[in-house]
Amino acid sequence: MQCPYCTGDSSVTETRVTADGLRRRRACTVCKRRFTTYETIGAPSLKVAKRDGTLEPFDGDKLYAALQRIAAHRDTITDDDLRRLARDIEATLVDSGRKSVAWSDIVALALTRLENIDPVSATRLAANYTDESGAVRLDGSAPDRPTQQLGLPLDEE
Ligand SMILES: [Zn+2]
Repeated sequence: MQCPYCTGDSSVTETRVTADGLRRRRACTVCKRRFTTYETIGAPSLKVAKRDGTLEPFDGDKLYAALQRIAAHRDTITDDDLRRLARDIEATLVDSGRKSVAWSDIVALALTRLENIDPVSATRLAANYTDESGAVRLDGSAPDRPTQQLGLPLDEE
């Protein structure tokens, strides 16, 4: 992004997830001034690769719903935590600059974050989405369960 003061190149020094989207602090590489930009989250360019190889738009609400299921009945983790977590994952993916991501990438990001918030939920997620070797299953399928678009078992229990 161009620096608004001197039109030089800028680099991102910090990305924060807010209720409305992303707030980025940037620093100009030429004049060294700092400025902040805001981006609405849910960049339509971010796609998730499905099992059959087709792409679908990343859906933060779907990820949030999946995390809610993983963390169901855990009182150590709140819905707010999960919303933040879903947004943080989305921010990380958008930041990576990639046009499409695999479901396994999303699971891996969720795992590292959940481990810090609630190890029990992280273990549940791992049990659902990783094989015996600890590798995230590429098809994202849970054992003996039908999977839906994101590879998540979204059926009600
Ligand atoms: Zn500048």
